[in-house]
Parts: sequence; C-alpha cells; structure tokens
Amino acid sequence: MTLPLPKPHDWPFDAELLRRYDGPGPRYTSYPTAPHFSADFSAQDFVRAAVNSNVGAFSRLLSLYLHVPFCRSPCFYCGCNRSITRDQAQGDEYVALLKREIALVAPLFDGSREVIQLHLGGGTPNFLRPAQLADLVAELGRLFAFSDDPGRDFSIELDPRFVDANDIAVLARAGFNRASLGVQDFDPQVQLAVNRIQSLEQTREIVDACRDQKMRSVNIDLIYGLPLQTQRGFARTLEQVIALRPDRLAVYGYAHLPRLFRAQRQIEEQDLPSAEEKLALLGLAVEALSAAGYRYIGMDHFALPGDDLAVAQRRGDLHRNFMGYTTHAQTDLLGLGVSAISHVGDSFCQNQRELPAWQAALEEGRLPIMRGLLLDNDDVLRADVIQRLMCLGEVEFEPVERSHGIVFGDYFHDAIDALAPLVQDGLVQVLQDRIQVTARGRGLLRVIAMRFDRYLDLPGQPVRHSRTI
Ligand code: SF4
Repeated sequence: MTLPLPKPHDWPFDAELLRRYDGPGPRYTSYPTAPHFSADFSAQDFVRAAVNSNVGAFSRLLSLYLHVPFCRSPCFYCGCNRSITRDQAQGDEYVALLKREIALVAPLFDGSREVIQLHLGGGTPNFLRPAQLADLVAELGRLFAFSDDPGRDFSIELDPRFVDANDIAVLARAGFNRASLGVQDFDPQVQLAVNRIQSLEQTREIVDACRDQKMRSVNIDLIYGLPLQTQRGFARTLEQVIALRPDRLAVYGYAHLPRLFRAQRQIEEQDLPSAEEKLALLGLAVEALSAAGYRYIGMDHFALPGDDLAVAQRRGDLHRNFMGYTTHAQTDLLGLGVSAISHVGDSFCQNQRELPAWQAALEEGRLPIMRGLLLDNDDVLRADVIQRLMCLGEVEFEPVERSHGIVFGDYFHDAIDALAPLVQDGLVQVLQDRIQVTARGRGLLRVIAMRFDRYLDLPGQPVRHSRTI
C-alpha cells in the first residue's frame, strides 16, 4: 500500500482510529521518561555532568526553567506540582531559596555559554509580584550570559485572573517576550464545576496587554473532557478563543486520576463526558482550529503558520524537551525550583518534589537533587529516534546509523515488527530508507514512538501514564 507523504500540518481527524489506539502512554518530553529516574543519581553525578557539558563539542547554549509552585486557588482538574496559598510571605521565602539554588549551580557552567531560552512555569509564576519576577530574571542575568539573539525566548505562564496590564508592562521590561495563558473553557457551568471562574474580558485584557508590550507570541491552553463540557459550549469557547487570535494553542485531554491528584476528587464523575463525547470535543477543536488557519504541530499543539514553531516544523528543526515543543535544539536544560527537571549532556535529574525537602537541602547549602539518570548508549539512540518521530514525523535511517554506529534494520528489528499493525492501519510507512508517519498517524505520534521505548517492556515497573488521547 502506498500512501501520500503527509503535509506537516495535516491531521485528518478519525474518531474510530483514536478510540482504537487510546490507552496509557508517555508524552515523551524526555526519553527515558521521569518515572524511570533513579534515587542512585547523586548531586556529584549532576556536578560531573554539568562540568563535562562545558567541554569542546558538548559546550552549547543553555535553556533555563524556573518552577514557581504556588497558586491562589485550586482548579479541580489540576495535576501539577503546586501548593495552594494566599500567603505572599511564602513566595518571598521561596525566591530567597531559589536565589541560593541559582548561586550553587551557575558556577558549574562556563560563563561564555549563552542562555537562549528561559521559561517560568508552575503552579502560577505570577503568584510572585512582578517586581519579584523581574528581580529573579536580573539575578539570572548577573550569573548567566543572556543571549542577545533576537530569536531568544523568555516565556512565562500566566493566570489571567491575577495579573493586569501594568504587571505585563513590568514583565516585558524584565525581558519576557512570550506568554502562555491558562483558559481551559469559558463555559460558566464548566468553570463552576472546575473551580476556575475566569471571564473572556479578563483574558482579552491580558492578551491585548501582551500585544501592546510587543510580546512575540501568546499561547492559550484549553482542555477537553472537563465536567459538564458540551459540544455546544466548547464550540463557543473555541470561537471566542480563535477571535483572540493567539499565536499558539494547546488543547489537552483531561486525565481523571483522582487517586493520584487530590483536587480531582472534587469532580463528580457523573459530570464527566463519556469517551465518545470526549472524542467529539477533540474533533471539534481540530476542525475549528484547522478552519481558522492553525497548523497542527503535534501532541496537542497548534500554531499560526507564521509562528516560530510552525516555521521550525516546516524547516525540520523542531525540538521537544520538558517545556514541550521548542525551536531551540541541542541546548542543555537547567531546571531550578522544587520538582524541576534538568537535562544536561547525557543525564537527566529532578529536584526534590516536596517543598520541605527542597527547602531543607538549600538551607544546608546542598543541591536539592532527588533522582536522575545517566543515559547509556541505547537510551541516547532511542531518544534520538523518538525525538525525530515526535518532531519531524519521520526517521531517516542513514543519519541515525552514522551517529550511533548501528544498522537500523538490525538494531530495531523488533520495533519494526511491532509497527506492523500500525502500518496496516495506515499510520506509518516503513520504507527502504526511513520510517514515515502518515497524515493519518499524526494524531497518534506517541503510540508510534512507544514501539521504540525499551522501558515499556521492562517487568516490575508499574508506571502510570496519562491516556494517549
Ligand atoms: S491549573 Fe494552574 S492555576 Fe490551577 S491549580 Fe493547577 S497550576 Fe494552579
């Protein structure tokens, strides 16, 4: 069977196919994924990886991620690592400790290495006062070399309910040129059911303020599958959001895991849409966004054709890391703050996930590392293959063979066999010189990538992942 090669933005929505392949699976913001990190990874391992990353060919640009764990009120769908408080003093204390962490790690990296990407996530970064956020950026700028490349990305996640136009002006002056706003759904019934009341006007004011401040891009997050969501209500939300014309949109599926996330126990299970209804909501989003000119980037993400992500996708230099899709390939990523993850050289590591443990380590002057992993050759090879599938939608054998000294067909014999049903279903083609994801397969990238994941087959590793749809 010969299928046409996909255009990068094509995703013909096929509910029956998605239903058939729905199941738990990793999101592959890393490979191996975080549940496989080990407590044997020590602070010394991290220091060694950081120092080695400064040497020769491995010396590259830096990405920084800062996690701010506080939120003022709990959204019931939330599965993030966050702490609910209105006590601003907790934020002050956190910033002081974050500065200690920055002071401990910055000297490990060669001072000439430029920071091309900075992202503040949470929680709610704008739980901290704008002046505090600006001060944090200034502190980073003192200890790291910020790139003056016009393509540098300094982005921040914002909760539009707790920020105003003046705050946005302060953030823009501090250097932020991208903002990501949580919305989820504008339907008042749904907002009540998830405890997140946020008006269209509030949101529009912040989108406009970001534009007034010449921010390069605004992203809006939506969620399908929330309690009391209906096709009619969600279609209205999509219409309202499209009218705001964000440069990027993320449309996530709600994963109901009340045993893991306490806040989700507030959600009445009978209010959740059925699997059929949930797929219909996703179908609505794909259809509305395609009709409005958005390109499908992959894994829940859409962008306008002129946005950097869509341009990078066309050029074939899209990349994926813990922050999701990015245009900055081959940076070392340094995560700061509670639960933050770093990817330095061939190692991953994660900070303490609980605030008291993170705090105690820094008060004792120690790096707050909880777990990590030194990648072996097989991990590096599979990470490369999975990255190509998730970002390029294909794996050409020759460059992989050259970089890793393998014969692709021999090394991945089992994975290629496991692709057979997906080939049958027209999701992927195994050609002479490459594996090519088809237009039909673009909505199921992680199902395809899972065939190359060695850890899914390991016995005795009960790892919980969200569903693939
Ligand atoms: S969804 Fe965002 S704002 Fe709401 S509780 Fe979670 S992290 Fe906080």
